[in-house]
Amino acid sequence: MNALHKLVIASHNPGKLREINAILAPLAIAAVPQSDFNCGEADEPHGTFVENALTKARHASRCSGLPALADDSGICVRALNGAPGVNSARYAGEPKSDARNNQKLIEALKQQTDRRAYYYCVIVLLRHAADPQPVIVDGSWHGEIIDQPRGEGGFGYDPYFYLPEFGKTSAEMTSEQKNRISHRGQALAKLVEILRAGEF
Ligand code: IMP
Repeated sequence: MNALHKLVIASHNPGKLREINAILAPLAIAAVPQSDFNCGEADEPHGTFVENALTKARHASRCSGLPALADDSGICVRALNGAPGVNSARYAGEPKSDARNNQKLIEALKQQTDRRAYYYCVIVLLRHAADPQPVIVDGSWHGEIIDQPRGEGGFGYDPYFYLPEFGKTSAEMTSEQKNRISHRGQALAKLVEILRAGEF
């Protein structure tokens, strides 16, 4: 029997909170944002997604006294040795700008014929701030970077992230289609399986 009823999410993003709550609701788990506890945002100083997600989850759990869930995600480009990677949100510096990030990415790939890239998402779930064995799930979504933007949906790098098997960018997909197959969708599906099995 699953004893988890309420957890805190280390995010202030209302879209993410809605998506995660829709997935957790059938399991009778309510996710509340860390802003409900006046928790400030944790720093994300690390070089790997998993370290950053762990740091965020620990901060949220410590600050709220609840089990905590955090994710970290980004886009990794083969020809750029995995960049933008953990710096995806601020690839072109402050302030955060999708338009400038995309411009910088296209510029960096100008002479490159290898356009392979993947989105990556890791989700960490901690029972408490000092949990020695967090649940860690992840997902990767492979595609390629194109030079001209296509589509109005999604966010971030989506208009430039092309999926040859669909003949579309991720910005040309409906959010339902994207959520089913994306890096975040894959990681969430694995998490649900673990929670359903009562392994938390
Ligand atoms: P965060 O994990 O929400 O901090 O996202 C990190 C950054 O990675 C975002 O700001 C985007 O630039 C990029 N990113 C992560 N997931 C996606 C996606 O599904 N579409 C487009 N960009 C994404």
